[in-house]
Amino acid sequence: MKNALIKLFKIGVSAEKNDDENRKVFIVNLFSMVGLLITATMATTAAINGNLPLSLSLYLAAFSFLFGYTYQYFTGKTELCSIIIIYALFTLLTYLIYAGGVNNTGPLWIFMFAPCSLYIHGLQKGLRDIGVFLVVISTLLFYPENAWLSTEYSHEFKLRLIYSFLTITFLSAIYEYSRAKAFTNLVEISQKFEQQAKIDPLTKVSNRRDALSILNYEVDRSERENEVVSVALFDLDYFKTINDTFGHDAGDQVLIKVAGMLQSITRKQDTVARWGGEEFFLIFPRTNIKDAFIIAEKIRKLLSETLLDYKGTRFHVTTSIGISEIRAGDQIEKQINVADQRLYKAKAAGRNCIEPSYDVTPNIKANAH
Ligand code: GH3
Ligand code: MG
Ligand code: MG
Repeated sequence: MKNALIKLFKIGVSAEKNDDENRKVFIVNLFSMVGLLITATMATTAAINGNLPLSLSLYLAAFSFLFGYTYQYFTGKTELCSIIIIYALFTLLTYLIYAGGVNNTGPLWIFMFAPCSLYIHGLQKGLRDIGVFLVVISTLLFYPENAWLSTEYSHEFKLRLIYSFLTITFLSAIYEYSRAKAFTNLVEISQKFEQQAKIDPLTKVSNRRDALSILNYEVDRSERENEVVSVALFDLDYFKTINDTFGHDAGDQVLIKVAGMLQSITRKQDTVARWGGEEFFLIFPRTNIKDAFIIAEKIRKLLSETLLDYKGTRFHVTTSIGISEIRAGDQIEKQINVADQRLYKAKAAGRNCIEPSYDVTPNIKANAH
């Protein structure tokens, strides 16, 4: 029973909407169903008691709630449905003030307007609805000689009704404000954590996990577009010696500097990630291995020519590189392994070079002329 009800209220809730949008869909469903149930019951009671105008207006409100619910069900549009609910309630409560309801108890229902409109429309829009409602009911209640009412309330009752309505509005607004603020804080914190989970804390470039998820995305896209993606694994040469000679902090500074350099030299669509230790992983979308070689060679050359400086001591650092191309149908992991094996070959070939270099050398030469 409980599950069936929750399912009923969750119609329209989807993974594509954010938490706050889904909360709104849920609340709109809940309010329209509860509103429908209450107004339909009261309408029937009023009909049995012979109060036809009251019964009719309650049935009208019940129908509006049902319409709102069905509208959201079929169109998935929450905004209009929420407007229908709020303004059906607005009209019904105004009518109850005007007519008095059963033994003049109708005005007691107005207190539900403040929390309802704040929950459904949020703080700003909710307060605007409440403001309009307050103006309308105050005009009805305080128009000289009860001319706009079909019943009579004492002056004290009217004043206290408005005061207590204002109090409920104030409390509901504070509640809604804190809820919205807590929600925004939560979203900000989770975004921050999400961001941090993707970034390498030392070099501030993507970490291995983020690189793999970007690569998966790029490979999927390239398959759709009939394109290829190239990847490159960079491993700094004799990095241990840098640590041993200049200290671990110097090593860290080199990693930061190299990461920054890689980022500034690559294109906007490329990804630079720290693969681990002194290894970097680069993703070149829509790039074949020949073009990836050209970019990698440019980086290799620039790095080997750059004089690094750590507290006045100057030195060079070089890198060995392994590249591979991922085509439609290729296994990503396998192609990363290919790059890794080629990196190993580049190390074996004397470091400060790229594998493969054989099939692209003519291309480079051709470009140089
Ligand atoms: P090769 O040319 O064969 O790659 O030699 P290498 O010395 O670079 O390779 P090796 O794998 O022997 O050493 C890698 C070194 O990188 C060892 C490790 O202390 C250092 N390293 C890994 N991560 C960090 C880091 O975050 N900061 C610093 N300073 N050093 C690191
Ligand atoms: Mg290494
Ligand atoms: Mg190394």
